[in-house]
Amino acid sequence: MADTFKAIQVSRDEEKKQSVNVVELTSDDLMEGDVTIAVEATTVNYKDGLAITGKSPVIRHWPMVPGIDLVGTVLESASSEFSKGDKVLLNGFGVGEVHWGGYAERARLKSDWLIGLPSGIEPKQAMGVGTAGYTAMLCVMALERYGITPASGPIVVTGANGGVGSVAISILSRLGYHVIASTGRVDESGFLKELGANEIIDRAELSEAGRPLGKERWAGGIDAVGSHTLANLLAQTNYGGAIAACGLAQGFDLPATVMPFILRGIALLGVDSVMASKELRKEAWDRIATDLDMGKLAALTTEIGFDDIIQTATDIVDGKVRGRVIVDMKS
Ligand code: NDP
Repeated sequence: MADTFKAIQVSRDEEKKQSVNVVELTSDDLMEGDVTIAVEATTVNYKDGLAITGKSPVIRHWPMVPGIDLVGTVLESASSEFSKGDKVLLNGFGVGEVHWGGYAERARLKSDWLIGLPSGIEPKQAMGVGTAGYTAMLCVMALERYGITPASGPIVVTGANGGVGSVAISILSRLGYHVIASTGRVDESGFLKELGANEIIDRAELSEAGRPLGKERWAGGIDAVGSHTLANLLAQTNYGGAIAACGLAQGFDLPATVMPFILRGIALLGVDSVMASKELRKEAWDRIATDLDMGKLAALTTEIGFDDIIQTATDIVDGKVRGRVIVDMKS
């Protein structure tokens, strides 16, 4: 009998009603790829929450094994880049959306999507970072490319208690920036200050329709929220500053005016992690290894087991998850 392993599978019936089940699969069931991996750990990102709850159409191939991030050990490889026993890392590339992902004890993936686990980072730490944390690093790099430095002035981070936000605060603080954290959970100020936030503001200040231009408050920002929040961020950025936009937790709309662009020369920097090039991924992960305090990462992560994934996916969409979640596939 072939070896079986457990997986979470999301299916759709003829009326397009979605259901989520724990199933037993064999390696023969896996989708095509040149590298087969024993999954050691995964995580729950906001996008995984959307996939499992069906709140947004993240899944585009049925049935789907969700999980946009995974880390594990190569079992079989037809690629010259990876060999049996190598530790590999996957973030995005449509995995968990169009190709079976991390919520299974085995995954078969294309070698083009994989990078070797960066030295200095343990497998579970890599999942503590995950797509959310690697995106936070991409946002920091986007601001740097634009010329923003700690001397430019404060940086605002929205969705501060979430995955992108909490990792962004930790990285920016380590790099010497003055960080303003915007959150709906001001009772978590102590946690955000431990990560390195210098000031905490209530997200309600930013979440309603505001004026086209406001008082200049920050040199740059990392926005995981979108909608009115992003519009207000732009309207309150110092002359010549920039906002890196990566998320839509409030909404995917952008009810803004051109005034910040044409009167203050503000830049809006779009950040995508899913299709980012391998070179950019490697650069971001190398920077994570040096610029993210692993003690702070431990403080912002919670560890769960395979059986807790489905509930946590619902919780993240409901805004109840703080920081990042590591899923140990062996527990
Ligand atoms: P989380 O759910 O961990 O964090 C989102 C945070 O946003 C929440 O913790 C909350 O922070 C805040 N928030 C939630 N709802 C609202 C609301 N209605 N209005 C204002 N703030 C809100 O998600 P992630 O950090 O993993 O992801 C954040 C966003 O970034 C998501 O939209 C995700 O899809 C996107 N993303 C995009 C990527 C890309 O490649 N561009 C990659 C990774 C993520 P608080 O409680 O502190 O207010």
